[in-house]
Order: sequence, then structure tokens, then C-alpha cells
Amino acid sequence: MADFDAIVVGSGCAGPVAAYELAKAGRSVLVVERGTFCGAKNVSGGRLYTHSLRAVFPDFAQSAPLERRIARERITMLAPDAATTLDVSDELMREERYESYSVLRARFDPWLASQAEEAGAEFINGIAVEALLKQDGRVTGVRAGEDEITADVVLLCDGVNSLLVPQAVAASRPTPHEVAVGIKQVIALPERVISDRALCADGEGMAWLFVGDATGGRVGGGFLYTNRDTISIGLVATVAEMVDSDTPIYQLLEEFKQHPSVAPIIAGGTVVEHSGHLVAEGGYDAMPPLVGDGVLLAGESALMCVNAGYTVRGMDFAIAAGRQAGRSAAAALEAGDTSAAGLAGYRTALEESFVLQDLKTLRRFPHFMENTSRMFDTYPQLARDAMRSLFLVDGTPVKPVRKAMLPLAKRVGYLNLAKDLSRGVKAL
Ligand SMILES: Cc1cc2nc3c(=O)[nH]c(=O)nc-3n(C[C@H](O)[C@H](O)[C@H](O)COP(=O)(O)OP(=O)(O)OC[C@H]3O[C@@H](n4cnc5c(N)ncnc54)[C@H](O)[C@@H]3O)c2cc1C
Repeated sequence: MADFDAIVVGSGCAGPVAAYELAKAGRSVLVVERGTFCGAKNVSGGRLYTHSLRAVFPDFAQSAPLERRIARERITMLAPDAATTLDVSDELMREERYESYSVLRARFDPWLASQAEEAGAEFINGIAVEALLKQDGRVTGVRAGEDEITADVVLLCDGVNSLLVPQAVAASRPTPHEVAVGIKQVIALPERVISDRALCADGEGMAWLFVGDATGGRVGGGFLYTNRDTISIGLVATVAEMVDSDTPIYQLLEEFKQHPSVAPIIAGGTVVEHSGHLVAEGGYDAMPPLVGDGVLLAGESALMCVNAGYTVRGMDFAIAAGRQAGRSAAAALEAGDTSAAGLAGYRTALEESFVLQDLKTLRRFPHFMENTSRMFDTYPQLARDAMRSLFLVDGTPVKPVRKAMLPLAKRVGYLNLAKDLSRGVKAL
């Protein structure tokens, strides 16, 4: 007999929710987390769309450590000396079904883990699973140091940089084009100052994404989220780009922080946290198989993340996938069949949910971003020049707007513009 019904590897977003569902179903479940506390090693921008959290914990808002409800969106095309920004505020952002919050993982993840613990899941912290135990090709448990622990089913919720996925299913590690490197700082400022600078009411905040000069014209982008009394600011750039870059990403971040449109927002703040992490960028086409004999993958271990330029989503996918993984594992245990066939309902359920449907819908986006370098240098400068033709007045006779715009379009080439536009529309 196995030591546990289920072992969950990793306690980020997916793991504790999977463990919660298993414990709620009366199953013995062990969560193994390498961080000395849950969330110790985890990074996100981080803006959490709460729909999937609400599905598991309807009353989460009463106890979860949320920072600010996002009520303002900004997307900026950043040229070295200018910023062209779309600034959106919308009453619907305050409606329960659309709500999203900024979160800090060092606070949020321990709360999520505590929900699983209260439901009966056992946790071991500070131990990394080094290998999977296998018998006749079937996963039967985990090895950590000298310890071997067995289970009828193992759930891999160990995030994007999983060393265990290739041992579990027929998949290789993601390529440098399929993962990006993220870097982030948390900057402390008084609560009131943040509200004023973000033009937000008390308790509400802003999500701000940048494309262009944030990454010095490389594929990737910048982000800025307002928390209660801190601001999260950072960059994401594909590993393939950064390997060949002369400028290290931490230097790019310092330059981004000094950009004239960013510096006033963080002025006077103190850096209280600095972190780096990989993030999955390959999308649907890069995903590994989601089940094997005795094993399920949930969250970013299965590369369930989308960076669509205007929004980054991984946490809501991970929570929804963790929930379904827990439920499917519990159903398979009940039926006495945790083979790949017995666990197959997991993939079917995700196909019927937003998780695989959204990943599928946005499957072309990573390729579009990577193959459209003009998005990151030419277009932000074009947007700047278009705005200059509208807003700069010095007493010399103005040109009709159409005449001012035509040379700009000519500079990129009409064909290139049409091609990029058509590919961009198809990717979304
Ligand atoms: C810079 C950046 C910005 C982002 N911004 C956003 C955002 O704004 N919104 C959003 O929704 N998503 C965002 N994401 C993505 C989001 O953070 C992830 O998609 C999400 O955290 C995935 O959850 P997960 O549970 O699958 O993995 P993780 O949260 O990474 O959790 C994996 C856990 O497994 C543990 N672990 C790993 N290996 C082992 C092992 N061998 N043994 C034991 N434990 C192990 C880790 O310590 C960790 O606790 C961002 C990511 C980055 C890097």
C-alpha cells in the first residue's frame, strides 16, 4: 500500500488548490514544497483575475491577502523619449465576475496553502523533490534526498522550470524561445501617494503594461502594478533574446525605471524586494501531455500561461487547473484507476473550461510577438511621431493629419504594416 493517496509537488498557485480538492474528497495528500515557506521562491507581476479563485473559495475576499482591486488599465508603447498610452477605466472592472487584484506572492501563497492545510492536507517545506519513483513506466512516488515516499497518484505543480516533467511524460524541457526571464522589484511608498499617482480611489489600483523601450526594443515588455503600500515593477524578455543581449536584464530594469514616463510614479520609493523567475511563453503548442500513468500536470509545469502583451495570465490558469487536477485525481482514486486512461478526464475537463480554450485561442500570439520585431522598436517610435504631428505646435503652419501620417506609414512600408496588422488580428 502506498504511503499517501496523492503527493502534490509544489505549493504555488496550482498545488495547494489541487491538495485542497483532494483533502476535501477525504484523500490523504502530502504537499512537498522546496521553499522554506510557501511563496518563498515564487514570483508574479502580479495581477490575479479572481474568477477561478472564487470558484474554489467563494468567500476568499474576507481573508485572502489581496493588495488592490484593479480599476485602471494602461498599455504604453514606449519610445526612448516618449510614451503613447491607452488609459482605460471601466465600471465593469468593479463587477465581481471581472474582478482582478494585485497580489504579492510571499503573502498570497501562504494563505492559499493554509486553505489546503485546514482541509487536511499535510505539508513538508524546505525539501525539493529530486526525482520521480517509477515502476514499469508508471509514476509511483517521489524521491527527495534519501527519502522515498509513495502515492497512488502524483500531481506535478512544480512550475515552469520543472525537472520532473520530462521524467513523468513524453516531453523535453522548454526551449529558450518557449520561456522568458522575468525580473521584478517591489518598491515601498506611502499608500496615499500610490493612490494619487495611479489616479485611483483608496483600495483600488492600476495594471500597467509596456512594450518597446522597456526592454530596449527587444521582444518582451515591462509591467507595473500598484499594491497597497508598494509598487511591483519589472520586465519580461524571452530567454532566446537575452542570451544574445549585451545588456543584462537587471540593467534594462534600471533604465526602464529611469524612463521619464515611469520615474515619477516610483520617485522617492525604496526597493524592498528583488526577484527573478522564468515564465512560460510558448503557449498551447509548447504544452506537454497533461497526464501519464500515475501522474498529472497542472499550472506552469504544463506551461499554462499566456503573455498576450496587454495582459499576463498564469495564476488564474494554475488555480483552475489545480482545482480540476485535484478533482480528477480524487475521481480516479475513487474508481481505483490512476493510469493515464483513468486520469484522462482531466484533459477533457480542461478542454471544456477556459483553461485550454483560452490557451488555444491565443496560441498564435507568442509566434506573432517573436516574429514581429517592429512591435518593439519601430511601432512605438511611429506612435510617438504620429502623436507629435497632432500635439506639437510651434507656430509653423500645421499639415493636414493625413499628410503628416503618410510619410510615417511609408517609413515602415505599406506592405509591412498590412502584414503585421493582419497577423496581429489573426493572433488575437
Ligand atoms: C515576472 C513574472 C510576472 C508574472 N505576472 C503575472 C501576472 O501578473 N498575472 C498572472 O496571472 N501570472 C503572472 N505570471 C505567471 C504566474 O506567476 C505563473 O503562471 C503562476 O505562478 C504559475 O503557478 P504554478 O502553481 O503553476 O507555479 P508556481 O507558482 O511557480 O509554483 C511552483 C511551486 O513549486 C515549487 N517547486 C518547484 N520545483 C520543486 C521541486 N522539485 N520540489 C518541491 N517543490 C518544487 C516552487 O518552489 C513553487 O512554490 C508572472 C510570472 C513572472 C515570472
